[in-house]
Amino acid sequence: MANQKGGVGKTTTAINLAAALAVSGFSVLLIDIDPQGNASTGLGVPRTERFAGTYKLLLRGTLDRMAVRRTPVEKLSIIASDRDLAGAEIELVNEDAREFRLRRALERLPDLRRYEVVLIDCPPGLQLLTLNALVAADGVIVPLQCEFYALEGISGLMHTIEAVRRKFNPKLRLSGILLTMFDRRNSLSGLVEKDARDHFGDWVFDTVIPRNVRVSEAPSHGLPVLQYDARSPGAMAYTALAAEIATKEKMSLPEQVRVDG
Ligand code: ADP
Ligand code: MG
Repeated sequence: MANQKGGVGKTTTAINLAAALAVSGFSVLLIDIDPQGNASTGLGVPRTERFAGTYKLLLRGTLDRMAVRRTPVEKLSIIASDRDLAGAEIELVNEDAREFRLRRALERLPDLRRYEVVLIDCPPGLQLLTLNALVAADGVIVPLQCEFYALEGISGLMHTIEAVRRKFNPKLRLSGILLTMFDRRNSLSGLVEKDARDHFGDWVFDTVIPRNVRVSEAPSHGLPVLQYDARSPGAMAYTALAAEIATKEKMSLPEQVRVDG
């Protein structure tokens, strides 16, 4: 999940897409590389227990036994962001292969290789932490908030993705653009959607995430919206998104598919 703007729905999408994919049967790992740690909070990892997380993974390339944590969703694990991560941006500058830290860790550590899906929640901005995510990833999902200036900065992001692809990670591609916080009652939402689809055509996911208060309440309970209120429009939208992405990415479901909710 990447977009240099804050508040567009990266973390919300990371948590809820991860949960929806896990509920549909994939084993999913969420990596929180935002020093703010909102994805970790939203999945119920207390701040006092975030001693071994993405900081060590990036700086030392090691994974403590406690680092991969269980979440309220059975097949979803998380590597939380610890407070030290705030300094990682600066510390990494002087390291070798500083853009490849996360990628190397994902390739090398057996505990991380066994997941079928790995989602990375990026911080705002396009600095080293986001760069590490782009170098490690096969695809980028760009959440776009249905608001004024939604498309502003998007061409810059596309250039960055293209530059990373050429320079560091030939496998990287745009998975899709996701319209978030769509408000039916606000005509602006419709205009942003039209603009986005005119500009980016098939790159925009069919699924649109509605603005829904249950989505914003869920993190304070440490739950994805799917578990907080499975029948809410937000939960249904993220379930639909998971199905759309599984089809688009040709991800085959494991044999035994659990059906929840
Ligand atoms: P980012 O990670 O890009 O900074 P967040 O996912 O944290 O953005 O979302 C920003 C704010 O918007 C949060 O307070 C979140 O609860 C709220 N939010 C995100 N998606 C929705 C939605 N579909 N409905 C209502 N509120 C939402
Ligand atoms: Mg965030």
